[in-house]
Amino acid sequence: MKQAGILIEMDNGRVKETSLGLITLAAKTADSLTALVLDEGMDEIADHLAAYGVHTIAHLDLPEDPAIRWNPAVRSAAVVQAARELELGRILGVSSPEGKDLLPRVAARLDAPLVMDCVDVDLKTDIAGTSQYSGKVMAQIQVTGEIQVFGVRPNACPPESAPVQARTVAMSVDAAVPENIVLLSRDEGDSDGRQSLTEADIIIAGGRGLKNKENFSLIFDCAKKLNAAPGASRVAVDEGWVSYAFQVGQTGEKVSPQVYIACGLSGSIQHFAGMKTAKMIIAVNMDDNAAIMANCDYRVQGDLFEILPEMIKQL
Ligand SMILES: Cc1cc2nc3c(=O)[nH]c(=O)nc-3n(C[C@H](O)[C@H](O)[C@H](O)COP(=O)(O)OP(=O)(O)OC[C@H]3O[C@@H](n4cnc5c(N)ncnc54)[C@H](O)[C@@H]3O)c2cc1C
Repeated sequence: MKQAGILIEMDNGRVKETSLGLITLAAKTADSLTALVLDEGMDEIADHLAAYGVHTIAHLDLPEDPAIRWNPAVRSAAVVQAARELELGRILGVSSPEGKDLLPRVAARLDAPLVMDCVDVDLKTDIAGTSQYSGKVMAQIQVTGEIQVFGVRPNACPPESAPVQARTVAMSVDAAVPENIVLLSRDEGDSDGRQSLTEADIIIAGGRGLKNKENFSLIFDCAKKLNAAPGASRVAVDEGWVSYAFQVGQTGEKVSPQVYIACGLSGSIQHFAGMKTAKMIIAVNMDDNAAIMANCDYRVQGDLFEILPEMIKQL
């Protein structure tokens, strides 16, 4: 019997789409699913989670004090406690910033094997598909052990409704703050209402071809019109045109949107490592020999300073 616990991420009181997709992925091969909810708003989301196939919804009741509630040591200890009490053999979360913070801590505390950035996980065979060597190789890793932990790439699987009857469990968890990890402050970031890269269905990203910070507004304007998230190559980040939060690639965000529009970026191996699982890639580049032009579904050869303003106008 494979009992899987799913770490639920929330945003303004709603379950993130990436967590719903993770439920759908896990439901394909798990015998039963338990949602692990660390945030408030349990009453509002219980029905929603059941509609996607979660059998048990466990509310890990953390103190309201943000210094305790958001301390990663406290949160990971709560997940471990729930895993033990509810006898969960598999723990899955999204390989998001929150997942990257919590899942390795959970695995370490459980002395469990961990595979991050999975594009697929089969809980019947315990085989996870994950990219290696900057995305050059797709590895199938079989994991052993009583308890296993997996971080799944955001949007690896689209959410599908699969309603079941769910029970809810309120768990009081040990919220002792360890001396060695103290949360000093928590910054929600300056998203300015922008969509998060990992959540977005459409991403439009810019690279060196934008030439400077002012021109990068073309990417922002186009993103607004497309209801897309803006992204960037590392060059655009290193040049200071946008912050690191925008970077896609090996050392940035790993994304899997429905559509990825790459403007004025060459498609280096390191950039590809972060976006090669996009369902459709559209390249806008002056140079028909750029790597991105050979590795996309649609290519537009031309000057982005003509193409993007026209696109904004048309949209
Ligand atoms: C360890 C390591 C990790 C890295 N991690 C990352 C990472 O996470 N993400 C990442 O992106 N990079 C990463 N890099 C950097 C990577 O190797 C490349 O240097 C970088 O991706 C190149 O960025 P770019 O495509 O914007 O620039 P370039 O490679 O210089 O490409 C610019 C492109 O713009 C086109 N262009 C120019 N002007 C126009 C115009 N007017 N209209 C249309 N097209 C135009 C050009 O034809 C060219 O193809 C990493 C490198 C290392 C060594």
